[in-house]
Amino acid sequence: MTSVNYESMMPRDPFADDPNDPASFLDDEHIEPLSDEERAAVAQDLIHVRECKRVLEPRGILGIYFLCEDCDQLHFYDWDIMATNMIATLEGNVPPVHEPSVEPDPNAYVPWDYALGYLDGLEAR
Ligand SMILES: [Zn+2]
Repeated sequence: MTSVNYESMMPRDPFADDPNDPASFLDDEHIEPLSDEERAAVAQDLIHVRECKRVLEPRGILGIYFLCEDCDQLHFYDWDIMATNMIATLEGNVPPVHEPSVEPDPNAYVPWDYALGYLDGLEAR
């Protein structure tokens, strides 16, 4: 089972484990460069996202949702937005995470784990 890296879609906080976080009052506009490991994980996720779009979108699944710990709301992401965010991450840019959603149909979105499980299930046939 592939592990999922939601962090890869978020602006990175280099002081996440630092109690004296100097950035806590700032919007983080700076991000740490990805490690090779993180880069590989994001690249892998990107492959999965494109596969999801190809396989799941025709089945009515338009993207994923997850509960955002920052604003305590569900965020909905189309496959295209996911791919765009991941490419931005790979290029060292901060992806736009909290963009307003356009009244998504909650029934058309699934958790990322579910989407990956769906893909695995189809491949196993
Ligand atoms: Zn949020």
